[in-house]
Amino acid sequence: MKKILITGALGQIGSELTARLRNVYGTDRVIATDIRKLVNETTEAGPFELLDVTNGELLLQIANRYQVDTIIHLAAILSAKAEANPTLAWHLNMGGLVNALETAKELQCQFFTPSSIAAFGSTTPKKQTPQNTLMRPTTMYGINKVAGELLADYYHIRFGVDTRGLRFPGLISYLTQPGGGTTDYAVEIFEEAFNSGEYTCYLKKGTYLDMMYMPDALNAIIDLMEADPSTLKHRNSYNVTSMSFDPEEIAAEIRKHLPGFTLNYSVDPIRQRIADSWPDSIDPTTAKQEWGFKTSYDLPAMTVDMLEKLRKKRTAS
Ligand code: NAD
Repeated sequence: MKKILITGALGQIGSELTARLRNVYGTDRVIATDIRKLVNETTEAGPFELLDVTNGELLLQIANRYQVDTIIHLAAILSAKAEANPTLAWHLNMGGLVNALETAKELQCQFFTPSSIAAFGSTTPKKQTPQNTLMRPTTMYGINKVAGELLADYYHIRFGVDTRGLRFPGLISYLTQPGGGTTDYAVEIFEEAFNSGEYTCYLKKGTYLDMMYMPDALNAIIDLMEADPSTLKHRNSYNVTSMSFDPEEIAAEIRKHLPGFTLNYSVDPIRQRIADSWPDSIDPTTAKQEWGFKTSYDLPAMTVDMLEKLRKKRTAS
């Protein structure tokens, strides 16, 4: 039975993953940590500790105190914010990862951290990007992600740490705001369609990117962590995705439910440059073959669920 420490637990993934893991493994067996404290379900419903992951000593101390056997490392700065502050991104994304891996090595923990489609670059094949391919990212976030994948492999090969990872596409969810990535528009578009009936997109028409709905992302994390290690040949990290669309296609899907919805454009050159360096679509075949990766939501199913959940959220507030 797992006992899990999560870093960056108050973010877009962590806030939903913490609740999900507490349901699966038991409330007291999931220790949420973050550099900040909010009063919400993540901090109030189970164990919570303040933890800055750049403090390796404190990370080890907390993991040791709770006797955890699994570390899920989510604390990071995402693509757009990392471009705005590359040295901070290097310090947090790489320094925090080394500290988390060192703790996993010391306490012999299973270890998970997400990579991203940002690990690919403009010289990577753009369509149906394979699992193993050319990776020369040109963003600080992408450089952190490629280095992180290699480092996690290194800790497995050199020290026997059970490291596992996923290359996530943009994740879409309604509970917690995304933290400053290039795919955030795909969350904002739902909220604005719902609230004001119009949205101004910072990426241009025809910008195709991979996306996945949060429930499928949470299932993928749990399925990978539960997978028989003997089946895992590409531990860090597996391509996973469930859809690829451009702003026009998601807007058209939303219009099926909210017919008056208007989409405008005001392109942000920094985020457009980041998006242009990423694949249009990636190939998740290896994840399907090695540990049975699967998804339940395509664009139409996700749109129905997002709009229903946003409606419920508004009624509750
Ligand atoms: P987020 O920005 O929503 O959350 C990050 C959390 O880390 C925040 O709660 C923040 O307070 C915390 N944090 C920041 N600095 C910290 C520090 N020094 N110590 C401890 N905590 C700190 O990010 P997210 O979307 O939940 O992403 C989590 C992981 O998943 C990241 O590695 C990210 O690169 C990866 N990822 C996310 C997506 C996505 O679409 N959300 C896609 C691909 C990969």
